[in-house]
Amino acid sequence: MSGAPAGPAPRSAAPRSADCSRCLALCCVGPGFAASADFAIDKPAGTPCPHLRADHACGIHAQLHERGFPGCVTFDCFGAGQQVVEVTFGGASRREPAMFAALEVLRPLHEVLALLDEAVASPAHGRAAADLRARVEEMVTRDAEALGTVDVGAVRREAGAVFDGMVAEAHAGHPSGDLRGRDLRGADLVGQDLRRRDLRAARLRGALLLGADLRGVDLDRAEMLGADLRGADVRGARLAGALLVTGPQLVAARGDAATTVPAHLRRPPHWIPSAP
Ligand code: SF4
Repeated sequence: MSGAPAGPAPRSAAPRSADCSRCLALCCVGPGFAASADFAIDKPAGTPCPHLRADHACGIHAQLHERGFPGCVTFDCFGAGQQVVEVTFGGASRREPAMFAALEVLRPLHEVLALLDEAVASPAHGRAAADLRARVEEMVTRDAEALGTVDVGAVRREAGAVFDGMVAEAHAGHPSGDLRGRDLRGADLVGQDLRRRDLRAARLRGALLLGADLRGVDLDRAEMLGADLRGADVRGARLAGALLVTGPQLVAARGDAATTVPAHLRRPPHWIPSAP
C-alpha cells in the first residue's frame, strides 16, 4: 500500500508493478478492512486510513509489521493504482469515488497481465497468452464507464485455461517422474511440515500454505498460482524455477538469502540473511 509522496504523473500504458509515488493512495482509502491479523483496525470502505498522510504517503510505512498491518505490506496493486490516476482519470490530482470502482476492475486485470508476461514464453501456449495479453492491455486503457462492463471473471477463466496449458507443458517429461499425488490444487496445507515432500512439479494452485514449513524445498516447476504463502517459511527453498509466482506471494513468505526466486521478481528486502 501507500509508501511515498505523490510526484509528477507521467502517462503509462499498463504498468505491472506498483509505484505509489504515481498514485493517490487509492488502496489506503477505497477498500474496507476488518481488524484481524493483517490489519490492526476496522476501516470502512471509502474512508482514509487514519495513518494516511495528507501527501498520500503512509505515516507508519517503516513499521507496518510492528504496528499490526502486515496486510498492507503484502498488498500489491500490480500498477493498477497509477493506471487509474494517470490513464483512466487522465492525471487527476484529487481522489474521487469512481476511482475506487475502477481500481476494483483494474487490479485483477493487472495481476493477470503480470502472470501472462510469464506465460508468453511457453512454446506451445505463448501465442494464446500473447493474444489474451493484447486484449487485456486494451481493456485497461478504457474509460471508467467502459471498465465497468469488463467481465473480470471471464478474463480470469480464460487466463486460467492458458495457465493450465502452460503448466501441463512444463510438467511433461519432468525428470521427477510420476506426478500423481502432487496435484495439491486448493489443498489445506496450513502449518504443515513439507520439508520431506517432493514438491517438484506439484500443482499448488490456490493451496493454503500459511505458516507451512518449506525450508530447503525444491519447488522446480511447481505451480504457485494463487497459493497463499502468508508466513510460510521458505528459507533456503528453491523458488527460482517455480511457475506463476507473484511478488506479493514472496513478500508474504519468510525467506532468506539462500532462497532462490524467479528471475523476473525482486527479492523482498525484509527477508533475513542466512544464518552464518
Ligand atoms: S497503514 Fe499505511 S499502508 Fe496501510 S492502509 Fe494505512 S496508510 Fe495505507
